[in-house]
Amino acid sequence: MIIDGHAHFFNKKTFGNNFPKNFKMNESMKKMASTIDHTIEENKDAWIKAMDKEGIEKTVFMSTSTLNQEFTSFINSNERFIGFATLNPELKDAVEILKKELENGMSGVKLYATNGQYNIGSDKTFPFYEYCENNQIPITIHSGVTIGPTADLFTGNPIHISRVLSAFPELNVIMAHFGAGYFREVLMLKYKRENLYVETSGTNNWLPFQDNFLTLKDVFKKSIDIFGPDKIIFGTDTRIFPDGYRTGILKEQQKILEELNVSSSDKQKIMHGNMSKLITKSKK
Ligand SMILES: [Zn+2]
Repeated sequence: MIIDGHAHFFNKKTFGNNFPKNFKMNESMKKMASTIDHTIEENKDAWIKAMDKEGIEKTVFMSTSTLNQEFTSFINSNERFIGFATLNPELKDAVEILKKELENGMSGVKLYATNGQYNIGSDKTFPFYEYCENNQIPITIHSGVTIGPTADLFTGNPIHISRVLSAFPELNVIMAHFGAGYFREVLMLKYKRENLYVETSGTNNWLPFQDNFLTLKDVFKKSIDIFGPDKIIFGTDTRIFPDGYRTGILKEQQKILEELNVSSSDKQKIMHGNMSKLITKSKK
């Protein structure tokens, strides 16, 4: 079985409501915006059908706005849907907001370091991380490149999380999309740190922007060397409309693991076990 560790639920009530005023969407966002006319029921049916077809037990959905009622209702519409809330960790009431999100059924947090207009490593975030560590709430971070409206590669540099990893050694941090261009930094962050995971989702279209000509297979190989099979999490970053489940990404990554002769027990950890442990802990 598989857990997809990174996906999105978008419809009229969850897409674009955190965009700045007068924001001009780019082409790929316009395409998304034109296909969000689907109810929770329609989303649920499309997802469950796709998950059954691909052998996916559970999917982790990343919210794009805080305390969004529509997102909450979607997550709670099926026990195979796992929700990661999003919030600004620098806010004074970040812990209070998180508590509400957890009461609403969320299992983790997604921080948009590049887009969120906050610093994931500032002193102001520490009460939030402390709560997450004490309650074993996993945190997925999107650093690096993104199509988001307020992208800033300065706040999106994952190096900001370095001091957090050392201050909170039991906090589980997952770097999405292999750091989306900051792969070197993500590898460096792993130096002597047990509490960092790397996640594989998305098109990984940051690869051409590297100075060292990596292929996705190189990235997997290096991640297995440095992170080990216990700290890698599979994901696709699917949004089900308009193009359906990203089967191509699933198949490509499974093929790479085959080619790298990853054992079946290690494959099981990457595709299912590692994320399963994190979300089970947070539910206790
Ligand atoms: Zn995503």
